[in-house]
Amino acid sequence: MKITFLGTGTSQGIPIIGSDHPVCLSKDPRDKRLRVSVLVEWDGYTYVVDCGPDFRYQMLRANCRKIDGILFTHEHSDHVLGLDDIRPFYFRQGDVPIYAHKRVLKEIKKRFHYFFETENKYPGAPSVEENIITNQPFDLNGLKVVPIEGKHADLQVFGFRFKDFAYLTDMKTVEDAEVEKLKGLKVLVVNALRTTPHRSHFNLEEALRFIEQVKPEKAYLTHISHLLGFHEEVEKILPKNVFLGYDELQITI
Ligand SMILES: [Zn+2]
Repeated sequence: MKITFLGTGTSQGIPIIGSDHPVCLSKDPRDKRLRVSVLVEWDGYTYVVDCGPDFRYQMLRANCRKIDGILFTHEHSDHVLGLDDIRPFYFRQGDVPIYAHKRVLKEIKKRFHYFFETENKYPGAPSVEENIITNQPFDLNGLKVVPIEGKHADLQVFGFRFKDFAYLTDMKTVEDAEVEKLKGLKVLVVNALRTTPHRSHFNLEEALRFIEQVKPEKAYLTHISHLLGFHEEVEKILPKNVFLGYDELQITI
């Protein structure tokens, strides 16, 4: 299984437009973060988790020519706004399968209502194949995917476990029963926004505590704000099995 970090930034990305914050001005390419998303590939299949406003560029940058589906964690703009840019995949492959909680599908139908027109549909508009996810494992081309439920402030969000890899973002609280589903991981990806507390995201301390609870072999942090600091400096203070994710990082499990 190959994992590609397509984006590791928080909702505004790094740099933030017009910001003079030193991290936004950093020359280190690892401090440039597009909106959060990840590509998961196995046996010739390619799935994307979330489809934010940078989706088009992320697909070009990763030279991704085919996708077998998009899984959504939740409906916030930094996770869904790029959906119109599935058009090249739709033209080549037909309806693009999407997997989401029914509430998230409803929101997608509102924002991208023109995908779902049954009469006089605009000829260039794409179509999707809707797949509702509940908090039960589901099959993707022979691979069992286990949803992991958490809360983003009051909003329900899904993370996903694919074999020994799990990807969780925008979490603030995760119940113990959900943590149990994460035992025996080789790699965990989890959100860590910044050092100070935030109402709807783990800060660094909470993310590290969560990693200690899950005990994966390795963990990578994502959904990072400029307020977490410079990549190079933050990496130095992390436990030895914890790393900062960065855009275009690839790992094989
Ligand atoms: Zn987000």
